[in-house]
Formats: sequence, structure tokens, C-alpha cells
Amino acid sequence: MDPTNGAERLGLNFDRVEKRYGSLIALRGISLEIFPGEFVALLGPNGAGKTTLLRTAALLARPSSGRVRFSGFADDSPTEIKRRIGMVAHSTLLYDELSAEENLIFFSRLYGVAQPAARSAELLAACGLSARATSLVRTFSRGMRQRLAIARALVHSPRILLLDEPSSGLDVGGREWFAEALAALQIDGCTILVSTHARNEVLRMATRAVRIAAGQIDADSGHDGDPGPILARLQAEN
Ligand code: ATP
Repeated sequence: MDPTNGAERLGLNFDRVEKRYGSLIALRGISLEIFPGEFVALLGPNGAGKTTLLRTAALLARPSSGRVRFSGFADDSPTEIKRRIGMVAHSTLLYDELSAEENLIFFSRLYGVAQPAARSAELLAACGLSARATSLVRTFSRGMRQRLAIARALVHSPRILLLDEPSSGLDVGGREWFAEALAALQIDGCTILVSTHARNEVLRMATRAVRIAAGQIDADSGHDGDPGPILARLQAEN
């Protein structure tokens, strides 16, 4: 099935995922089933393991033991999984010495998007960077880079979106665009995991909240549960 046609609905399952860095245990046997179309807010203190968990889902980090499994499509080879995943990480994954449009065209080609230039122009307009399309990314402000990093993650219309503190650096206009883009993806059945410390419009869209502490799940509102109480805890902690 064409991953860009909006019909694919993918789930992912963390099965006793453990990640060690030498003697440090970042993830202590996380088991978590994320259902297709869920919008999961991943919460927890600094160093809890949120980034590590997202990186294992993006196949950027290999679990020391346990597995991450994907459901909803026949061929779950790493290449096919990566074609369906979009990631916004702490580092922007952009090329500083390319312009904004060159970056988006490059990543569009990498993912086999049909009309890379048109897709790039569409996303630059959506994220408010059309006027700076030909500027090198190294000349961008932090918020502009973050807008472009999000646009980059969306070029191939991913069916699983992994977002690590995606709103950091975004101004009000950037956050509004981002929330609208996420709402459209959510309606389209995209599965979304977002780590955040901030109370913002993104959290209001969450259908589920999972809190991690010291590499373990310490709260999960579950599928079809109410994320409200766990999100309220975030409010109390901030
Ligand atoms: P934050 O809210 O601060 O972003 P986090 O919940 O995303 O934190 P992680 O970045 O996943 O936390 O880190 C979890 C633990 O794993 C931390 O103790 C961190 O020091 C450790 N860790 C992460 N990446 C590495 C690495 N490449 N090498 C060694 N330790 C690492």
C-alpha cells in the first residue's frame, strides 16, 4: 500500500525494551502497545528515557534487549518502516550549507516523494518560510530551524510521527501552524508520539498520556482512557 495515500494506519509495540549505555540503564524493560491513530503524550523528568524510547522507535537506536514491532503493513523491513516514519529530534537533521528549499527537496527525493519541488514549496508556504526559501539554513534563527525541521519530518506524509520536544523555539505563529499540521495528520489516522515538558496546544490533542521515570513507565492512561489526570500532574510539576 502506498504510505502517502492516507489510508495506512500503523501501530507500534515496545516489547520489554531495554537500553543500556555501559553501566547506565536508560530504559528498563518498557512494554507499551501504541494503537494506530493514537496521539500519545510522552511525559517525564529530564533523563527519564523519553528521547531514548523515541530513538528506538525511529530505528536510530537499537534496544539492548527486547524489540520494537510495527503493525499495519505487510513488509516491516527497516527500509519500509523508515519510509513511514517522520521524526523531529533534538538535532534538526538539516544540512546547514543547503538552503531551506534544497533541504526539503533533498529529503523529498530521499523518500521518493513524487514532485519534490512542489512538495518543498507547499511545506515552506505552510510553515511560513517561503520568503526565506533560498537562504542557507545556517543563517536561520532557532525557531526558523525548528519550523524547517518539522517540515522536513512531514515531507513524505509519515504514518508514524515521533516528536521530541517539537515546540521548543517556536513562536505563537509557529505553534499554531504546527498544531494545525498535527490536527490534519491526526484526522488522517497518523500515529503520533510526542515528548514534551511544556503545557501547550499539542498536549490538548493527546488521546493518551504515558509518563516515564527512570526508564520505566510509571503512569499510562491507556487506549481510550482519559489522559487528563496525568497531564494535570505535568501542570503541577511545572
Ligand atoms: P530530557 O527530558 O532531559 O530530554 P529524556 O527523558 O529524553 O530527558 P534520555 O535523553 O532518553 O532522557 O536519557 C535517558 C538516560 O540515558 C539519561 O541518563 C542519559 O544520560 C542517558 N543517555 C542517553 N543517550 C546516551 C548516550 N548516547 N550515551 C550515554 N548515555 C546516554
